[in-house]
Order: sequence, then structure tokens, then C-alpha cells
Amino acid sequence: MSIKVSSVSKIYKTQKALNTISFSAEKGQIIGFLGPNGAGKSTMMKILTGFIKPNEGKVYVDEINVLENPLEAQKTIGYLPEHNPLYLDMYVREYLQFLASIFQVDKNQIETCIEKVGLIAEAHKKINQLSKGYQQRVGLAAAILHNPNILILDEPTTGLDPNQLIEIRALIKELGKDKTVLFSTHIMQEVEAVCDRVIIIKKGELIIDKKIAELQKNQQQIIKVIFNTKVDKVLINQLENLVSSINIGKNTWQLTFNSDEDMRSKIFDFAQENSLKILELSSKNKTLESLFTELTSD
Ligand code: ADP
Ligand code: MG
Repeated sequence: MSIKVSSVSKIYKTQKALNTISFSAEKGQIIGFLGPNGAGKSTMMKILTGFIKPNEGKVYVDEINVLENPLEAQKTIGYLPEHNPLYLDMYVREYLQFLASIFQVDKNQIETCIEKVGLIAEAHKKINQLSKGYQQRVGLAAAILHNPNILILDEPTTGLDPNQLIEIRALIKELGKDKTVLFSTHIMQEVEAVCDRVIIIKKGELIIDKKIAELQKNQQQIIKVIFNTKVDKVLINQLENLVSSINIGKNTWQLTFNSDEDMRSKIFDFAQENSLKILELSSKNKTLESLFTELTSD
């Protein structure tokens, strides 16, 4: 296992920020760490990277015990903290050279990293002259400088404009090809776009740990269908896997199904068998975004 967290709890004075959290990640996975503000995401990441200690539990990265060997663990982790702390008065290349000397990284790595994060044209500039999106790239370059196996990114896309968002997401995906990535966000679409897996926490509790495909699969299908004529509810209810049927207009039905199969084709078969014609058929599936809102709201 690349990351292994078992029964981690963290209490700040009187507040429980994490309550017996356990999860693990295989090498090469990109995991979205999702939760509303205050859920405990940053706390978990600070514990994973050895910056703070939990009250209970164990944490391993690449089989290294983070609590016992934080320095050893940090060699295998690249960490982009929340709010990306950078020395804004430094030049991009100068900043990376500075870090490389502190971390005793081969200087040749610097240009490789600059290229990897798409900073070649900006590397001669001062960090404070860069847009937020490019500053994030500098943070990412700093995180991968020592070629770690694991990347922990705390809200790397917060505050970016839509174009920068797309670029940084693509970059995370690219970096994830040969690294295990755990990145936090409160945007569900982001997880959908980038991750293989999602872990959702709420008020310090882990409420979901699933592959994205599984999450999509287990969703109910809501389909609106307009027939050419009135259809009896008794007939409608013969449809398989039907959870509910609501007659929302004259010949219009809203049907909810619980099935992994795409029920639209079943509705076509049903119409044909019963000599009905379909005038309109549309899927009104719940987005993962609305699922997230549902799961994390009180
Ligand atoms: P997230 O990153 O999901 O927004 P955090 O891990 O930052 O959540 O915070 C989890 C909870 O712990 C919040 O209620 C926050 O106020 C609290 N918290 C975080 N850091 C500290 C701290 N150093 N001292 C006291 N409480 C803290
Ligand atoms: Mg946070």
C-alpha cells in the first residue's frame, strides 16, 4: 500500500477534528479527498505528511511509519499545503534552486520539474508576477522536486479561474500517471474529472470511500418520458426495477429506477410491446454534485 491510515483521531483542545478515520491507497491511484469546509481534510493531510501528530491511530506511506519516521516519510511525499506558501519575491528558478539546495536534490531535477509543470516560459519571472494558476504550478514543481512517489495536494485548485482550473486538473492527472495522488477539494465535478476514487469526510467522519464508477453505478436513474397517449399507472408499474412513477403532465411521466442497466432502452421496449409511441425521453439523473450536497448537508 502506498498510503495506509488506520483509526486516526485528532482532537484540538476540545474539538474532535478527526474521528477514527481509516483508508488506504494503492500505488498509482488518484484519490479525491472531498468534504465541506471544516470537515478535517487539511488536518488529515498534515498528519499524513508528518507535520502534526494524531491523538490516536497509525499512518504509513510506502510502508514507512510516519509518526516514528517523519523525515524518512517526507522523502517519499510531495506536499502542496493549503494556500500554497511561496516566497513571492523570489524568481521561479531561483526559488526551486533554493529548495533543491535545502532538500539536497540533484540540480538537474529543477529543469525537468519546470518542464513537467509547464513553467518554461515563466521560469525567469518573479513569483509575484505570475497569475494564481502559474503560482500553483510553482507549488506543484516544488512538491515534485525530490521525485516523490506520493503527492498530497491540499485544495490545489481553489481560487483559480475556469481555464486555470482545467489546466491544473490536467496537470494533476498527468502527474498521477506515475504517482499516488491524494488531493482535497470541495468540488465534486473536480473529483469526477480527475480521480479514480473518492473519499468523502464530514465533520471528521469518513462517510464514503468508493471508486467513482461505483458511485455512479449505484445512483438511481430518473427518467422523464412523454408518450403519445395516456398510459395507465398499472401498466407503467409493470416496468422492471421501478422505484416510483409520477404522472407529472398529461402523458408525461417521471420514472425512477434502481438499476445498473440503462433503463431508457427498456422503456423503448416497453413502449413497443404496448403499442405506445415515445415523443420525448430524457434522463434527469442526479449529478454527483447533488449527491455530494445530499451526503454532506445536515
Ligand atoms: P478542512 O481542511 O476540511 O476545511 P480542517 O482540517 O482545516 O478542515 O479543520 C477541521 C476542524 O478543526 C475545523 O473545525 C477547524 O476549525 C479545526 N481546526 C483546524 N486546525 C485547528 C487548530 N490548529 N486548532 C484548533 N482547531 C483547529
Ligand atoms: Mg483545509
